[in-house]
Amino acid sequence: MQIITTKAELEQNVQACKMKGQTIGLVPTMGALHEGHASLVRRCASENDVTVVSVFVNPTQFNNKEDLAKYPRSLERDAALLESIGAHFVFAPTPEEMYTAEEMNEPFRFDFNGLDSMMEGAMRPGHFNGVVQVVSRLFYLVKPDRAYFGEKDYQQLAIIRFMVGCSSLAGTFGDLQIIGCPIVREASGLALSSRNERLSAEEKQTALAISKTLFASQKWAKEPNATVKEVEQRVVDTINAVDGLEVEYYQIVDQTTLLPTDTFRHAIGCVTVYCGPVRLIDNIKY
Ligand code: AMP
Repeated sequence: MQIITTKAELEQNVQACKMKGQTIGLVPTMGALHEGHASLVRRCASENDVTVVSVFVNPTQFNNKEDLAKYPRSLERDAALLESIGAHFVFAPTPEEMYTAEEMNEPFRFDFNGLDSMMEGAMRPGHFNGVVQVVSRLFYLVKPDRAYFGEKDYQQLAIIRFMVGCSSLAGTFGDLQIIGCPIVREASGLALSSRNERLSAEEKQTALAISKTLFASQKWAKEPNATVKEVEQRVVDTINAVDGLEVEYYQIVDQTTLLPTDTFRHAIGCVTVYCGPVRLIDNIKY
C-alpha cells in the first residue's frame, strides 16, 4: 500500500493502473476510521482491482470552525487498518494541496434541485456544497469505476447520486457507479461514527436511546392507523425525554426524493441528536 499526498502523484499512479486495464474503486473518508469505513473498503476491494481511499478532513464542508478543529485525526492508525483490509493507495493531501486559497474561501456552489434544503442541508448551510466540491474533485483525479458511500450519511449519498446523474454533468464521470453501503452499528445498536470518539463512556450509554428509539419506531409505524406525523413526534419526544439528549430534527421522507411523505412506503427517517456537545446522526428505513 502506498500513501500519496499530492494530486499529481495520485493521477500518475491511477493512470498507470488504468493502462494495465485494472478497475478502480474509490472510498472517500475523513479518517478516524472505524468498522463502518472498513466495510466500505472491504466491499470496494472485493469488487475492483485497485482500491483508493482518501483520508482528508475537508475544511470546506464544515460550517463550524470548532467542529473542524475538534475532528479526530489519526493517519498512522488509519493507514495500518487500510493496509490490513486491502487498500492499495491512501490519498492524504493537505488542504493547500487540494484547494487554491480562492477555492478554500470562495463558497463553491452547486444546484441540488432542493435536495439540500432540508435536514442536514438546512442545519449546516454550505455543508453539501463543500461535500460536492471535494467529492467531485476526487472523482476528476481518480476517475473511478465505482465509488462507495455509507447509508449512514443518507442525504449525502442521495446528493452524490444526484450530482453524478445531473444532466449538466452527464458523462463527466464516465460510467461511474455510486454504491451505497448499509450502516454498521455496534452490537448495542449505536451507529459507528468518528464522532463517537468524543463521547464519554456515560454519554455513549446515553446515546443508545437514539438507535433504540429508531428501531422501536419501525414497530410504531405498523400500529393500526399510525401516521407519519405521529411517529415523527413520538420519536422526538422519546429521545428528548432522555437526560443529555436533544433532537435537532427528525424527518420521515421519501428514500429517493427526500421530500416529506405521508406514507411509510419507501420512507426513511433521518435524525440528528446532540449528545452533550457531540452531534450524532442516524437513520432508519420503514
Ligand atoms: P466520514 O469519514 O465520516 O466522512 O465517512 C466516510 C464514509 O464512510 C461515508 O460514506 C460515510 O457514510 C461512511 N460511514 C461512516 N460511518 C458509517 C457507518 N457506521 N456505517 C457505514 N458507513 C459509514
